[in-house]
Amino acid sequence: MDLTPTAAEAALRADVRAWLREHLPWEYGRGLPPRFDDLAEEVAFGREWQAKLASGRWVGVAWPEEYGGRGAGPVEHYIVTEELARARAPELVGRIGVNLVGPTLLAHGTPEQKARFLPNILSATEIWCQLFSEPGAGSDLTSLSTRAERVDGGWQLNGQKVWTSYAQFADWGWCLARTDPDAPKSKGISALVVDMHASGVEVRPLRQITDESDFNEVFFSDVFIPEDRLVGPEHGGWQVANSTLTHERGVNPRQLVIHAQLIDELWRFAIEQGAFDDPRLAPRLAQAFAEVRIFQLHNWRSISRTAKGADPGPVGSINKLWWSEMSKRLHDTVMAVVGDAAPLWRGASENAGDGVWQRSWLYYQASSIWAGTNEIQRNVIGERTLGLPREPRA
Ligand SMILES: Cc1cc2nc3c(=O)[nH]c(=O)nc-3n(C[C@H](O)[C@H](O)[C@H](O)COP(=O)(O)OP(=O)(O)OC[C@H]3O[C@@H](n4cnc5c(N)ncnc54)[C@H](O)[C@@H]3O)c2cc1C
Repeated sequence: MDLTPTAAEAALRADVRAWLREHLPWEYGRGLPPRFDDLAEEVAFGREWQAKLASGRWVGVAWPEEYGGRGAGPVEHYIVTEELARARAPELVGRIGVNLVGPTLLAHGTPEQKARFLPNILSATEIWCQLFSEPGAGSDLTSLSTRAERVDGGWQLNGQKVWTSYAQFADWGWCLARTDPDAPKSKGISALVVDMHASGVEVRPLRQITDESDFNEVFFSDVFIPEDRLVGPEHGGWQVANSTLTHERGVNPRQLVIHAQLIDELWRFAIEQGAFDDPRLAPRLAQAFAEVRIFQLHNWRSISRTAKGADPGPVGSINKLWWSEMSKRLHDTVMAVVGDAAPLWRGASENAGDGVWQRSWLYYQASSIWAGTNEIQRNVIGERTLGLPREPRA
């Protein structure tokens, strides 16, 4: 791995930095996203920001130019993402589309599907959700029972999904459904694009431990899916889904952006609270800092492998396992700095940070579950990297 930037990479970094200094909605590298009273407000703000970012062609940097990208490679994508972190830019509201659906459509979509969907994903004109998990199918996704039955001109969809992040704001859903109930589990699934505004789609928000509703239950009752919304071969959706899952776990610098910002915030907060003078806290803070730095270097190593055309393979699982466990330790350290105010919430007096850290701590408890649980990542690493015996599969 050679971390010396080429002249073109250094120029790209300077360009994105200059653009961010001019366009960020708050002071470069110092401001904080506004506190929103509800998720709908935050999503509206996020759409505006992503549209602006896309107009500068800083979203989907590695996507082909014809769809609004720059036709660049993973290293350039990573540089832009790092600069977004440095600037403390808001997270992409359309991240499911940008990080999961877009790359899968690029690999498996028809030219018409790419032209129809990709540009609007980048600009957040249309928001996507991921309709994979079901009440009876999470880790073992091939057990899914949502059915799409052949009808004239397409399919009729019936069933239920769960934990669908942002479904209440989504225009389109990236859905796995069983199209051949008689085939072996993984051979009878198709990947379908669902119009979330279609008749028969019902979204019910779920209340989380943070008192927010980022995710939802989604019910389908006789939803019509036209023929041209099938992505990849009919009954061949499991291979298509694997592309999505590889991107979800894989070498995606999103978590780096988040954690680079978190460590920066934690540093300032710890200084304000005098935590570095506490011999019990100082080593934990140093560890949190070192771990985020290791994560950054590990990301660079993964990116450099991908840039050389290597299959990211289980590297994605190692990444996911590392950042989620690192994140939980980091958040435990934050709560130790928050100290006696740890059980307090937003609006309570004597609560430095006004509940931001408490919310973040609660939220990141789920990090070992989403994008494939950590037990599943350990299985993947054990089987594919260490060559341990495989679990029996149906
Ligand atoms: C914040 C958040 C957002 C999410 N957003 C989405 C979304 O937008 N779209 C979507 O489709 N899904 C989403 N999910 C769902 C997520 O993908 C699933 O929760 C996850 O895949 C686990 O599935 P499950 O909840 O059904 O748990 P289960 O699969 O039932 O697992 C229960 C427990 O058993 C363990 N386990 C299961 N199988 C094995 C095994 N073979 N070996 C060892 N241990 C095992 C698991 O690790 C876990 O601890 C989200 C989840 C969270 C927490």
